[in-house]
Amino acid sequence: MTKRLLIADTTLRDGAQTVGAHFSPDAKLKVAEQLVRLGVDCIEIGTPVAAPGELETAARAGELLKDAPVLLAAFARAREGDIDLAFEGVGRHPHSMLNLLTSVSDIHIESKFKSDRGRMLEVFAKMVRYGAGRGFHKLLVYLEDGTRTDFSYLAELVSAFVEAGADIVSIPDTVGYVNSPRKYAEIFARLLAEVPAARRVLLSAHTHNDKGLAVANALAAIEAGAGMVECTVNGLGERAGNASLGALLLCLHGSPGGAFSASDYGVETGVCLKEYARTAVLVGELSGLGVNYNEPLVGSAVVTTTAGIHQDGMLKDRRTYLCYDPESFGVEAGHRLITFNVQSGLKGITKVLADLGIGVEKAVAERIYEQVILLAQQKTPSTEDIRAIAMDVIEDGEHIIELSICKAESGVLPSSAEVVLRRRDTGETLRGIGYGDGPFSAFMDVTCALLGLDAQILDYHDVVVGQGRDSQMQAFVRCAIAGVTYQGRGVSTDIVQAGCRAFMKCVNRHLQQKIGPTHAPISGPPAAKLPLSPAR
Ligand code: MN
Repeated sequence: MTKRLLIADTTLRDGAQTVGAHFSPDAKLKVAEQLVRLGVDCIEIGTPVAAPGELETAARAGELLKDAPVLLAAFARAREGDIDLAFEGVGRHPHSMLNLLTSVSDIHIESKFKSDRGRMLEVFAKMVRYGAGRGFHKLLVYLEDGTRTDFSYLAELVSAFVEAGADIVSIPDTVGYVNSPRKYAEIFARLLAEVPAARRVLLSAHTHNDKGLAVANALAAIEAGAGMVECTVNGLGERAGNASLGALLLCLHGSPGGAFSASDYGVETGVCLKEYARTAVLVGELSGLGVNYNEPLVGSAVVTTTAGIHQDGMLKDRRTYLCYDPESFGVEAGHRLITFNVQSGLKGITKVLADLGIGVEKAVAERIYEQVILLAQQKTPSTEDIRAIAMDVIEDGEHIIELSICKAESGVLPSSAEVVLRRRDTGETLRGIGYGDGPFSAFMDVTCALLGLDAQILDYHDVVVGQGRDSQMQAFVRCAIAGVTYQGRGVSTDIVQAGCRAFMKCVNRHLQQKIGPTHAPISGPPAAKLPLSPAR
């Protein structure tokens, strides 16, 4: 007898809290669309109260996914204002869901709320009732830090929350406290056995990987009767991350017909396994973190083997050293290069993009094509190259200012950068030279001077695309301009140019916000119009 297990994805909320991960609003929507294709049951899209962008993204997702058979969840603290904003975000989706945070361990109650168990139970139950009356299709309550909470109090909370209208109760191992899957399972087993209210709702597992047990704990909870499991693509998440969806799927669907299978857990999922690999790669690209080399299923190292004996075995029969079929998860274990040249044409690129699960309008496909052709003059573009370029172009938007030339010098101090910026609508150019302790800082120095901007880099990192010495680099830049945070990505075979392009995206986003796409002059000092001369 199999039971339908719900898969809840929190890549765009808990996963987005990973240090260094940045999902732009458009990136979130792209990921959400792919998660729908993957067939997860619930997408936690974000925290509308956290920022205006989060609210807008949730609302856009609600519209974009309105016909998708998926629960669209927004995260909220147990406050009326948070809940109202969550509803404003996802409320119009036919399957809207409120993911309500209650923090229940003594540590949280005493340190965060300076309160006691009895009073907090009342406050939380009141907010659950408020949420339940707000019009969401489903309501999940997180019992944050539930694994460090007295079982008797946990049982009281579950009864009160179910009474107040919760449909799903999640027991997060928020800080990765549990050191044994058996102990995590026991919480679920006891709730189901001893708390009648718990049997009227779904119990959900939410695990963190601080002790390397996120997936094991989640599986143990499933065995103990959890009806939903919360996880992230590539195991993204704060600190050591959340349970990896890929690893979970491998455990649940790993070897059909073999000794181990989903029937070990007596569950089935609605996931279309073949969509997993492209989901994981997309999340790697759009989060800015890439995919760990050893991430189950999709890491660069996991379907290759270097040990001689293993290679010999793999060549004779792959099953000797591989216990599952990578292709059934959409992983191409074979040669990843594709033949792409100038003759392939726009149709060719549209086909490649479609195969990668990237649907774009014709105008965007044309811009991607132009960039791929440029790269094809230097190397044979791989699917990874094309994907990286596509992600770069898709996020590009309407640029007001483009970088025509950046000639930067490295290896001498100070480094210098000659920059020519061009205003797209008028063709007007700005030129200058800047200096810094490296080519990127020199570029930033002159660009900011030319445009009269005050920018500060908050985060910068590079990720290589594919392998080989002719690989492209992707740079991810997060910066503050006039107190507002922007993020940008840039792709190039030249590491400095990739960073400069990423920074230009931030600049353009700032200018779009400041002056709108086409009007008004770009502020810049008068010296900007002079021929090449040191900016300062
Ligand atoms: Mn979490």
